[in-house]
Amino acid sequence: MTAGLNLAQQEAVNYLHGPCLVLAGAGSGKTRVITHKIGRLIQAGLPPNRIAAITFTNKAAAEMRERAKTLIGREARDVLICTFHALGVRMLRQDGANLGLKPQFSILDSDDVTGILKDAGGSVDAATARQWQWAISLWKNMGLNASQALAQARDDNEKVTARIMARYEERLSAYQGVDFDDLIGLPLKLLQQHVDVREKWQAQLGHVLVDEYQDTNTTQYEVLKLLVGEHARFTAVGDDDQSIYGWRGATLDNLRRLPLDFPALKVVKLEQNYRSTSAILRAANNVIGPNPKLFPKTLFSELGEGEPVRVVDCDNEGHEAERTVARIQSTRAGMLAGAGGDVQQEWRDFAVLYRANHQARVFEQALRKAQIPYKVSGGQSFFDRAEIKDLCAWFRLWINNDDDPAFLRAVTTPKRGIGHQTLQSLGEFAGKYRVSLFEALFSASLASVLAARTVGCLHEFGRYVNDLEFRARHCNGADDARSFLLEWLKEIDYEKHLYDGEESERLAASRWTHVLEFCDWMALRCGGQIDDTAGVTTASETKSLLEVAQTISLLSTISERDTDQNVVTLSTLHAAKGLEWPHVMLVGVTEGMLPFKLGDDDNPTGRADGPMSEGIVQRLQEERRLMYVGITRAQRSLAVSWTKRRKKGREMISAQPSRFIAEMALDKTTTREDPREKLKALRAEFAKKAEVSAAAAAAADASAP
Ligand code: ATP
Ligand code: MG
Repeated sequence: MTAGLNLAQQEAVNYLHGPCLVLAGAGSGKTRVITHKIGRLIQAGLPPNRIAAITFTNKAAAEMRERAKTLIGREARDVLICTFHALGVRMLRQDGANLGLKPQFSILDSDDVTGILKDAGGSVDAATARQWQWAISLWKNMGLNASQALAQARDDNEKVTARIMARYEERLSAYQGVDFDDLIGLPLKLLQQHVDVREKWQAQLGHVLVDEYQDTNTTQYEVLKLLVGEHARFTAVGDDDQSIYGWRGATLDNLRRLPLDFPALKVVKLEQNYRSTSAILRAANNVIGPNPKLFPKTLFSELGEGEPVRVVDCDNEGHEAERTVARIQSTRAGMLAGAGGDVQQEWRDFAVLYRANHQARVFEQALRKAQIPYKVSGGQSFFDRAEIKDLCAWFRLWINNDDDPAFLRAVTTPKRGIGHQTLQSLGEFAGKYRVSLFEALFSASLASVLAARTVGCLHEFGRYVNDLEFRARHCNGADDARSFLLEWLKEIDYEKHLYDGEESERLAASRWTHVLEFCDWMALRCGGQIDDTAGVTTASETKSLLEVAQTISLLSTISERDTDQNVVTLSTLHAAKGLEWPHVMLVGVTEGMLPFKLGDDDNPTGRADGPMSEGIVQRLQEERRLMYVGITRAQRSLAVSWTKRRKKGREMISAQPSRFIAEMALDKTTTREDPREKLKALRAEFAKKAEVSAAAAAAADASAP
């Protein structure tokens, strides 16, 4: 298990019986330590199901599961490899009853939460509701409940938000619903307040490994501490220079506190970078230089100097996209000296990385025009599509009849003659008797507030939901699940609903295709052919349709496992964390984009060297870490581009290269790329290829009988 590891990595992998922190820069093999250590622990006799490895995203979990399988074989299937959130679902499912939670609780997504908050706060304005949502989420991540938040509120605005939070909490518990933050907060409460549950989990887990530790928040750290208990058998790996989720409550304090909370902590530092050439690594080290250091570290690479890092000046977005595509084409054709040589590069070897999702569009257009296959990762998720949310609302209602948001969506999708007025009366009735909408519907006294015919309609719906739940529970295997789902869609006439609601037939057809794809996806998971239910269940467990349905809200994209597609990746910098590509293009490295919106209104004096507030300084540091993450994704070649003009609102304004470009301290004589030279070279290459194939054709002709 220690083959392919350097001495420091081996030290971390072989240290089995106490707390261990691997603290090292990008590409130094931290994630590799985690995978190998899983193997080492099994080799040392720890049963696989007593090992938990926690990753930052589902995608990272899926990848680690693959790597572990290759390294360890079948036994890797039983290791719990998942995100903190998926672990939370598992804990709440097993032990949530201690907190009054039914095992069939619903997981509410961000849109549900916005809706509930609008209602709880009496606002019609989604933007206001989202501000509340944001504030409440930060409080929850700091471990505060509504009354604690109220106690520490600094102004009227915060007080109002804290009061809305109290109403929000009430509703969630009435709906038997939890939001994403609860998936961490409630397990923490369980472990803190229920000694038996805590002891059970501590006995169950023999070793806990955490990747990307620098991006954990306060609550996650508390959960970790309680899970590992006194023995503190855990391995955390991280890099303070890559902490990029401060805006979501992640805190570097977790790194600072670790040696204090665990005096026996063994700290291992890794210094060799195995990913990037020296030229790329030097740019990365230069950029991160100005940031204050939590722990000093130096990184070196033995992969040689490599191709210089290029800075590409562009006129505007469109020009930038063109040049990016040209670079991909010429590099792929093997034109880049020292960065792949004569070997043909695959599409999957390229990534275009940017700061914000909306930047992807122009690059998508340019790639399409050039007929280059690509995928956008970290973009709109399959599960955010309206049609998929419709189906999920129905599933949620089968699983948990008390899920009122799901009830409201299902009962109106498709329309079944139950209108807004009826639902409002039902809602008031339910509120008065403190029951869920579903429970209210079967109440004998409902007839006193609604007409008999209306009550009849509601009963029919209620009975239908019960019937579906029964059928879903008794569905076994993929074929069974598939035919049940299709039957149900026919019963509610969902395809017609899509065509009725969509102006364009083409759009309706594509929505219906998504629905079918989704049914297939569900069916495969029921059959146990695919074991990626976010790690909430392990592979060896078989799943009923209801079980699979409960884990859906945790998965963020449907094709997370398609890592093998041979396509160019477009990704945000945040979503690129932990990954690597031979050729990376960082685009939009323009002041105002990266660092993001730091200029104009942030500096009260308006002078470039004016004073900056503490908050701005920290944001700038986080943006710098983001740039560092971007640079260090590249293995063999890196190009950084910026535009002389950029959009600001609806206007085009003139723009400057990002300060981070100067901070890379590149050698100016070698870094500017002359596009004309490139084109000349490309033409020469094509001419050469044409000559070779003409010669080959001639040779073939000559040898023909
Ligand atoms: P990041 O900070 O970006 O998450 P990391 O520290 O987790 O990076 P890995 O992804 O584990 O780094 O490793 C980076 C690359 O180096 C991978 O391709 C990995 O296979 C390779 N690698 C790691 N350790 C070694 C080693 N000892 N020998 C050869 N290659 C290695
Ligand atoms: Mg890693």
